[in-house]
Amino acid sequence: MFNTRTKSRRPLQRTQPVVRTAVSRVSADGMGCVPSNGDENLYLYRYEQKVKQAFANIESCLKRISGLQHTEDFISRSQLVAREQLGFDLPEALLADSWIKSVDIGQLYVWCVFETFRRFSDEFFVDQPLAGLEDESFQTFVGKCGFHTVDVSPCADGRLAHVIRYVLRLPYKSVRRKSYAGAMFDIDDSLQKWVETEMLRYRESRPNSSDAATRYLKVAVYHYSSSAPGVEGCAAHGSDAVKSAEGALSRLRAFQQGVENTFCCGASIDLLLIGVDTDNDVIRIHLPDVGGDIDSLSYVDCNDIYEATVNAGRSDEAIYDFIKQVAQKQRVAPTEGMLRFITKLFHNNILQVNYVREYYNGRYKDIGHQECFIGMGIGFEEIQLRNLTYFAYLKTVEEGAKDLDVGIKIFSGLNVSRGLPIPVIIRNDYHGQVPGARERAVNRCHQLDAALKHRFKSLYDEGMLHTLMMVRDCNADSCVETVGCSLPLDQ
Ligand SMILES: [Zn+2]
Ligand SMILES: [Zn+2]
Repeated sequence: MFNTRTKSRRPLQRTQPVVRTAVSRVSADGMGCVPSNGDENLYLYRYEQKVKQAFANIESCLKRISGLQHTEDFISRSQLVAREQLGFDLPEALLADSWIKSVDIGQLYVWCVFETFRRFSDEFFVDQPLAGLEDESFQTFVGKCGFHTVDVSPCADGRLAHVIRYVLRLPYKSVRRKSYAGAMFDIDDSLQKWVETEMLRYRESRPNSSDAATRYLKVAVYHYSSSAPGVEGCAAHGSDAVKSAEGALSRLRAFQQGVENTFCCGASIDLLLIGVDTDNDVIRIHLPDVGGDIDSLSYVDCNDIYEATVNAGRSDEAIYDFIKQVAQKQRVAPTEGMLRFITKLFHNNILQVNYVREYYNGRYKDIGHQECFIGMGIGFEEIQLRNLTYFAYLKTVEEGAKDLDVGIKIFSGLNVSRGLPIPVIIRNDYHGQVPGARERAVNRCHQLDAALKHRFKSLYDEGMLHTLMMVRDCNADSCVETVGCSLPLDQ
């Protein structure tokens, strides 16, 4: 990062576009190519464990280093421990003068979180460990179902951060994801995205021509906890599953109405409401009627499909039939394409249900919050893992104040109560082909940084809030670039 004295094995910043080949996706640790068959769960598990372990090692490493204070050769002994447990050196600016004052373990902690993230992020964009799902065939499939774009807004809760690549097993590059506290997504932002999407179809026939009778599908994902419903549900909705579903549904309806009222000629979008049990990743889907009506209280639960279709080998046909039966009972008639799409989501979710059964005994140990940092701004495509990041997608702090407040509250419990500062990574992705875009992204980072420190001034003054600023050119598919940090790294 800014620490120029320690040698990083990788270049400090990588602004050059990364050249890669499509055929081999061998990750750095030799885990091999992404398998296309039944080994996928093992592959995903190893990847998840590797990343989670890298962050988990930080605390145990710093406990050892803390115990070394006031010993001779403190700095070199600390570096040995850090290299052994974390794989990198610590900045000497944060270790110096340990004979006269105690080392600020909180600052070291934050620095290690930032550095671990930077390394994880670099690896993600260079090695593409979670690619491998066919974006092209997914787009074809989605088209057959009657959609041209799938836009998902989950809750910002870190326990849903893996919803695209793990819970729903969708290609993360082909699905738009933007998270909001309580899945209460920004309607104007969605409207803007819709306009952009339709413009591209009209001008460039991407992803399909505007003549094709397909629609934009907006999905909202709320969550609940089956084993601790009143405690570990959605913080933005008082841990109430019904309120969570109703809140997300109200945004979906408002977005649809916004499209219909702003653009005539029968312009509309399709809606889907999904709930996730964060204990075990089981999903429930609220079936939309032909007219798009959704009931916040009626849904199909993947648990029921899992049991009911066991004798049929949980085939797509059996899943489809089961959904159709439930639809008849609920007196809703989803379109054929929507039924096919929902069948696919349940098919994929069954893979994830098996994943949690196989590797977590059917229920995660960390059913509550265990995020490592707050990710704030625009971007974070690389974060597809559960309970690692609390998201606050926002352009200004005022606009995202509610999301941020929820995040700071969560981290006050996780970190500050134990004397550990809150690491916040401020990020702005930009489109490099637009003149001045990088500069504006950097400026937005600094504005967010200033506004954050102002809003949570006492935390910041006490050293309990630290920030790292990063930008990324998403058009060049490059790695992230660090543009600032609140830690005192220059002596
Ligand atoms: Zn939530
Ligand atoms: Zn018109």
